Amino acid sequence: MLVVMRVGASKTEIKKTVAAIRAMGLKPNVIPGALRVAIGITGNRGAISRERLESLPGVADLVPVTKPYKLVSRETKPEDTLVAVGSPQRRRGRGGFAEDNGGDLRVTATAGNTSAHSLRSPRLCGEPSAVFGGSAFTVIAGPCAIESRKSALAVARAVKAAGASLFRGGAYKPRTSPYSFQGLGQKGLDILRAVREETGLAIVTEAVDPESLERVARAADMIQIGARNMQNYSLLRLAGQLKKPVLLKRGFSATFEEFLMAAEYILSEGNYNVVLCERGVRSFADYTRSTLDISLIPAVRKISHLPVIADPSHAAGRRDMVPALSRAALAAGAHGIIVEVHEDPDRALSDGPQSLDFVGFAELMQSLRGIAGAMGVQL
Ligand code: PEP
Ligand code: MN
Repeated sequence: MLVVMRVGASKTEIKKTVAAIRAMGLKPNVIPGALRVAIGITGNRGAISRERLESLPGVADLVPVTKPYKLVSRETKPEDTLVAVGSPQRRRGRGGFAEDNGGDLRVTATAGNTSAHSLRSPRLCGEPSAVFGGSAFTVIAGPCAIESRKSALAVARAVKAAGASLFRGGAYKPRTSPYSFQGLGQKGLDILRAVREETGLAIVTEAVDPESLERVARAADMIQIGARNMQNYSLLRLAGQLKKPVLLKRGFSATFEEFLMAAEYILSEGNYNVVLCERGVRSFADYTRSTLDISLIPAVRKISHLPVIADPSHAAGRRDMVPALSRAALAAGAHGIIVEVHEDPDRALSDGPQSLDFVGFAELMQSLRGIAGAMGVQL
């Protein structure tokens, strides 16, 4: 059930409605909208009695939500969510998970309007360094894994020069084989901090387990939850409690509903800063590593208010297909891509065959600009 408050409902009316929902033993989820606040009710097993709620001052309407993914659904929030990542505070080097509450940025405006605010701390200074959603096409680029400070900085400078807004790189790597390079761990996180200091790029890096999540959250502007962890519910819940923006990748064989339900875990803990990522699924196609499910992109845009991006690198598993899949994702309505780039892909410690070199990445960005221009998308 969604409680839609009147346009201009007062803070007291909203607070009282929230308290009434709690008193019914249910969970209120306050969702600020461009025009008015709505409160999604979760935690009910049966029908919710309308009488108690519809007579409350400030309540305009009670709308049943039919989808199992209540908070992720457009039934609950019709307008696009814009997810802001990073902030000038962090770029000035005052980064730190605890002090700056950097992940608590929440943008709840309609598409194209990037005014941001924070639910917990209404002190957002300046513009965020990147925004996902609306009419923006946002590019994350960097190596699969952080290998050394020198190479991370070289890649970061090159992708920034070519137009990427965020830098990716794993400090903790979920590898299929226990004998493969597992990442530099804490040292990798320190290198990522240095990359942000030097370049101003917002940092996206993966948390592979609940134990390392807080460490990762302190270093990152956006926490990646990988395909292998899409149904790691304790990790999803903890990421929801941290309020830091989350990049949630689709599991190799997750259905559309399972994917959105995974996102629902994060939102249900109060974190609306979720960007979905289609990274390819298992299929009988054997000429690529996975099959990029392009159709997921318009499906998500129709059903959910959350931004959705594509990962052409892990989908293809081979660099020659990355540009074509990136262009297909843009044309299908993706809000961005995450691409693996390495200074010397053939020597990369992980995922070299799918990594672009600097020239390849610059050419890709150039080819995307033409399509973005034709579509009225900002790149
Ligand atoms: C990655 O981004 O390097 C990664 C391991 O991705 P995925 O979880 O999609 O396999
Ligand atoms: Mn990789």
